[in-house]
Amino acid sequence: MTQRGVTIWFTGLSGAGKTTISHAVGEKLRSQRRNIEILDGDIVRQNLTKGLGFSKEDRDENIRRIGFVSHLLTRNGVIVLVSAISPYRQIREEVRQKIGDFVEIYVNAPLAVCEERDVKGLYKRARAGEIKSFTGIDDPYEPPLNPEVECRTDLEELSESIGKVFAKLEELKYLSDTLAV
Ligand code: ADP
Repeated sequence: MTQRGVTIWFTGLSGAGKTTISHAVGEKLRSQRRNIEILDGDIVRQNLTKGLGFSKEDRDENIRRIGFVSHLLTRNGVIVLVSAISPYRQIREEVRQKIGDFVEIYVNAPLAVCEERDVKGLYKRARAGEIKSFTGIDDPYEPPLNPEVECRTDLEELSESIGKVFAKLEELKYLSDTLAV
């Protein structure tokens, strides 16, 4: 069985639900015996992009490197799930152009909801001034203008978000396997 590679890119504020949705989608794909890889922003920053900070320059470099690895995997037939805030539109577009097989998922919940969830306690620290340049607080987030999928995680159940991602992958023919000849 040959598999078509694709990068599924989850972008959104911290706490919007990128990790939750991408992991759930990844598990479902894995249970279908598909080759997947997960590139989670938090983990990537501990190794591949260790040492980079949160200036625009460093954030763009972080995304460029994630995009580079995603490209290598995608062209070898892997389904790559990236979850990274990736706040800047231009670099997301750059990565999209480079990879080609690229599906953008805008994981969207209002800042107030993300802050209320405060999964990692980071919003509290940002509000207290302990963390500077925190996306949504004192650093920008540029929402996608034309994402393939938008998941409104304050309004929909996780299962609905997962369903939307799968429906789009089906529609774009990323899940229709062909037999190797
Ligand atoms: P991010 O990776 O974007 O920082 P996380 O996935 O770590 O966000 O956290 C999102 C939080 O929101 C989790 O606690 C999750 O259980 C919750 N949540 C509530 N509804 C949804 C939904 N529909 N989709 C994804 N996450 C949701």
